[in-house]
Amino acid sequence: MLRLPQFQVERPTAIADAVALLAEHGTDAMVIAGGTDLLPNMKHELFTPKVVIALADIEELHGIEVEDDGSLSIGAMVTLDALAGDARVQEQAPALAQSAGIVSGPQLRRMGTLGGNVMLDTRCQWYNQTHFWRSALGFCLKKDGTECHVVAGGSRCVAAASNDTAPALASLGASLVFHSPEGQREIPIDELWDRDGIWNKTVGRDAVLVRIKVPATGLWHRGAYGKLRDRGSIDFPLFGVAVRLDVEGDVITSADLVAVGLQARPVHLTRAARCIEGVGVNGDGKDLAAAIQSAGEAAHAQCHPLANIPGDHDYRRAMVAVYVRHTLRAAIDGSGPVSGL
Ligand SMILES: Cc1cc2nc3c(=O)[nH]c(=O)nc-3n(C[C@H](O)[C@H](O)[C@H](O)COP(=O)(O)OP(=O)(O)OC[C@H]3O[C@@H](n4cnc5c(N)ncnc54)[C@H](O)[C@@H]3O)c2cc1C
Ligand code: SF4
Repeated sequence: MLRLPQFQVERPTAIADAVALLAEHGTDAMVIAGGTDLLPNMKHELFTPKVVIALADIEELHGIEVEDDGSLSIGAMVTLDALAGDARVQEQAPALAQSAGIVSGPQLRRMGTLGGNVMLDTRCQWYNQTHFWRSALGFCLKKDGTECHVVAGGSRCVAAASNDTAPALASLGASLVFHSPEGQREIPIDELWDRDGIWNKTVGRDAVLVRIKVPATGLWHRGAYGKLRDRGSIDFPLFGVAVRLDVEGDVITSADLVAVGLQARPVHLTRAARCIEGVGVNGDGKDLAAAIQSAGEAAHAQCHPLANIPGDHDYRRAMVAVYVRHTLRAAIDGSGPVSGL
């Protein structure tokens, strides 16, 4: 049985105090939200904090609010279960509700939070293993070693962003409010990500995610999330795609597709999105069917899964087009999530 090491727990009640504790303990400290990823990673000795700073008692990190302009303001400590079940989120941001509702399994969604999901560590089949397992390979660049086992001779970690809500938030143009020793600042989610799988974020490890803001969507908004995974009951994405469509009259005026489970950051599938723009959703359906087919092909051409996360990468690539097509259909029909194909 894998055991947790001993560590000290701090329970601040104000964000400023959490940030001060992080600054005081430096690399010895990490924050914990639901703990569904942090604690397994501590058991695997991937994370070795001596001080764990619990965010649960900080009031400002809780609750979902609708602002005057119709945008959603979601506290980082909102659980995935609460998010998925919230009628306002389901109506305004269906891809987000669907993606949260399909993370892991029910128990972990009740503990796991949106903030923890956004800030999730990248994943790799050579990294998310026990210390003993990793030691047999001489570790790797991301932790304790000098080589990458995915890209031979590679000097950059290519572990994959595997957080289901990240593509949904990116498709919705969300922004993130962080508090760090420099103060509070809001950044578009697309500016959070970096290509380095060791730490795939542009904010420092001393920053606390406070709130996630999702701009208002209108009656014309449609969205859906599709997820390829091994087991339908629980599993990280082998490939995930969020679709956002704006449909005015019966024409798709703008589209965005964002994928996860490929590289260290979520990827906008821009060529696929262009295929679907300007197409009618009614009529005899021939144009739409052809556009969806082209979007799948464009996504397949753009996406090149690596042997970073489990699952045969040729199979994952073949499924890109399948999931893009079905998730586009789901967004148009107002159904989803798409899984188990
Ligand atoms: C068996 C299993 C299956 C899983 N399946 C999936 C899956 O299908 N899809 C998926 O996306 N995830 C999956 N997960 C991972 C995890 O359950 C979720 O990502 C969850 O949303 C993490 O949230 P948390 O609150 O538990 O985060 P924690 O574990 O508490 O934290 C995760 C990371 O984020 C940091 N962090 C947390 N909150 C903040 C904050 N407010 N500011 C700054 N940093 C913060 C922590 O320091 C830590 O590094 C799975 C985990 C397990 C064990
Ligand atoms: S991509 Fe390479 S360096 Fe990164 S975790 Fe995997 S094996 Fe390690």
